[in-house]
Amino acid sequence: MNTPMVMVLGGGVGGMTAAHELAERGFRVRVYELRDVPGGKARSISVKGSGVGGRADLPGEHGFRFFPGFYRHLPDTMRRIPYRGQPGGVFDNLVPTTRAAFVREGQLPIVMPDVFPRSVRDAVQSLVLAFGDRTGISWTDMVYFASRIALLLSSCEERRFDEWENVDWWDFVAAGGRPLAYQSLLADGMTRRTVGVRADQASTRTVGYVFIALLQSVLVPGGQLDRVLNGPSNAVWISPWLDHLRQLGIDYHMSATVSDIRCQ
Ligand SMILES: Cc1cc2nc3c(=O)[nH]c(=O)nc-3n(C[C@H](O)[C@H](O)[C@H](O)COP(=O)(O)OP(=O)(O)OC[C@H]3O[C@@H](n4cnc5c(N)ncnc54)[C@H](O)[C@@H]3O)c2cc1C
Repeated sequence: MNTPMVMVLGGGVGGMTAAHELAERGFRVRVYELRDVPGGKARSISVKGSGVGGRADLPGEHGFRFFPGFYRHLPDTMRRIPYRGQPGGVFDNLVPTTRAAFVREGQLPIVMPDVFPRSVRDAVQSLVLAFGDRTGISWTDMVYFASRIALLLSSCEERRFDEWENVDWWDFVAAGGRPLAYQSLLADGMTRRTVGVRADQASTRTVGYVFIALLQSVLVPGGQLDRVLNGPSNAVWISPWLDHLRQLGIDYHMSATVSDIRCQ
């Protein structure tokens, strides 16, 4: 029987994942990637001229350093990328974080525990964050925001897709006219920090449920908000992944620009 062949256009995390899954299911796979490096937006980009004394250039990270505790598919894939005999493969290169900080220009950062409180210090820090005035957000605004989250939590699947998908986060949390602290922490600042988009362009379904998933991951005992890689993304994730894909027999073409797709 002829094994079906699949062409994957683009070798970012999406393309590499598709190729990985297909190869494991017995398909012949070809990947065409525009650049001469894999990984797309998740790759490290070395900073030219930063290596001194014979050392390699320093790896600049484009951004992908956030592996939230609620991610399921990516960790599953990472467990299937061998790395130096580690039982969990590349996944074992993820290190749980203990604190997250919201950094604000000209102000002290707001530091919060990244895990369900495991010590008196964690518990005190969580309480100060929730009930103290470090955030500069009034109680009235806090309660209003909580009521919007409660509304999302009680919305059915149809409402999430039909209604919340079409409302932007800025309007949903009624950020217009509210103080800067509210806007920068719970509206625009939050969407930029969590999903890299502006609040007035982000769908409430996406942002709201990412926020809820993050919240849930620290509200359950043993929960973990975030993990980070223990080295440059290329060294401890992307390059071992490319090696593994090639070992699975995937025909990986770099510097290959897809210019058009002709359908017969
Ligand atoms: C600043 C920033 C920070 C981020 N931080 C995080 C984070 O911490 N955690 C997290 O989970 N997510 C993060 N993200 C999101 C995450 O990086 C992306 O969702 C993910 O990398 C997208 O992968 P992708 O494969 O869908 O797309 P891409 O990575 O864009 O891959 C597309 C690939 O297609 C190739 N391509 C394009 N055109 C052609 C063509 N004509 N022919 C052939 N190939 C082509 C590109 O070169 C690229 O390699 C961040 C995003 C940004 C912008």
